[in-house]
Amino acid sequence: MIGAGPAGCSAALTLSRRGIQPTVIERISSSDELPMRALLLDEVALQCLAECGIDTAMLHHMTRVRFSHRHHHRVRELHKTSAGVLSERALSARLREACEASGSDVRMGVAATAPYVERGFVRGAILDDGSVLRSEFVVIADGANSTFGRSLGTYRRRDIPYLLAIAATFESSHASRSEFDVLLDLERSEREPVAGYGWVVPDGGQSVTVGIVIPSTVRDVEAVNLADVLGRAVRSIAPRWEIDPDRPISASRSRRLPVGGSVLPIAGPTFVVAGDAAASADPLSGIGVGGALVSGTCAGTAVADAIDAGASAPLQNYTTLIREAFGQRQRIGRVALPILGHQVGQRALTFAARSHIVAEALLRATFDR
Ligand SMILES: Cc1cc2nc3c(=O)[nH]c(=O)nc-3n(C[C@H](O)[C@H](O)[C@H](O)COP(=O)(O)OP(=O)(O)OC[C@H]3O[C@@H](n4cnc5c(N)ncnc54)[C@H](O)[C@@H]3O)c2cc1C
Repeated sequence: MIGAGPAGCSAALTLSRRGIQPTVIERISSSDELPMRALLLDEVALQCLAECGIDTAMLHHMTRVRFSHRHHHRVRELHKTSAGVLSERALSARLREACEASGSDVRMGVAATAPYVERGFVRGAILDDGSVLRSEFVVIADGANSTFGRSLGTYRRRDIPYLLAIAATFESSHASRSEFDVLLDLERSEREPVAGYGWVVPDGGQSVTVGIVIPSTVRDVEAVNLADVLGRAVRSIAPRWEIDPDRPISASRSRRLPVGGSVLPIAGPTFVVAGDAAASADPLSGIGVGGALVSGTCAGTAVADAIDAGASAPLQNYTTLIREAFGQRQRIGRVALPILGHQVGQRALTFAARSHIVAEALLRATFDR
């Protein structure tokens, strides 16, 4: 496994359940190197985590969503689904511990610099100390940039939109709320709206994470200063959450998040690609942990089948497993993202803060599925 994020760890745990002890390599030395941000985990993620043996009861559970646009807002209960919040650091540490407990060899502070190729087939990775880690199969789960995947020829389809995301975390005296905000009034400059949405997620302790996501279908997307858009969003919610907008306790750089299965190919003769590296994040919400865990599980299943069969043919089933898990959602995303990036879609979104019916529809389309 290249990468011990949600995708790499769920692949490793799936292999362990099948009696195979994999090696996981992770370039960061400790989960403390990750940003402090709180992650909003949807029901898919919660179910997968429970299957990975991770106790989800300790998560900060959400019961309501508040849609807001300027002075309007609508609050909806989460009916069909459950949602929880966990810091990225805690998620990473718990997944890694689960992998170690189930027999995986997790090597922290070790980066893969290039694939190790033998007679035309990938048979492991060259590590940053120059050594070679040989393996029969490789699961590439190195995140959105996926340098390892790119060196094996994976590419992002230009005709499928991507998302741009950024987040920052602040101390707040309201971090114990069990409600998260969805902000529908993002601005790229004073009174100039931009499509996309923001979110405010309380971690149940002392901090809240504010994030924004913008589709690449926005006009002049490369010219949008995401940090500026986030700054405006933060200032707009500062009084409600009692945060100091000028003093984030953690801030990340903007990241390009491939979504909707836009990366190809995701399976080769001896490797499969999972998680953000395979664009498994939800195209409408940008929520990615659930998709990463599911695709990691599919990757682990395909690799275990190949090992059991003593042949690499079962790896090709991985594409089918992924299509079954995400196909419908990916098709919806490909149609909806261009509309959302357009002014019409952008205006339609704002009605969720004015109408219970639209708020309910948006919730069903994104989170409460
Ligand atoms: C600002 C922002 C906010 C987000 N908020 C949410 C949210 O609230 N809820 C949600 O569900 N999703 C959220 N997401 C999406 C979510 O974080 C990702 O979809 C998810 O983490 C993908 O998991 P992954 O395992 O594929 O990749 P990652 O989590 O990126 O893990 C990849 C791992 O591989 C390691 N790695 C990379 N290269 C190498 C190498 N060469 N050798 C060894 N190791 C390597 C990295 O260090 C990393 O640990 C957010 C994304 C962004 C950008």
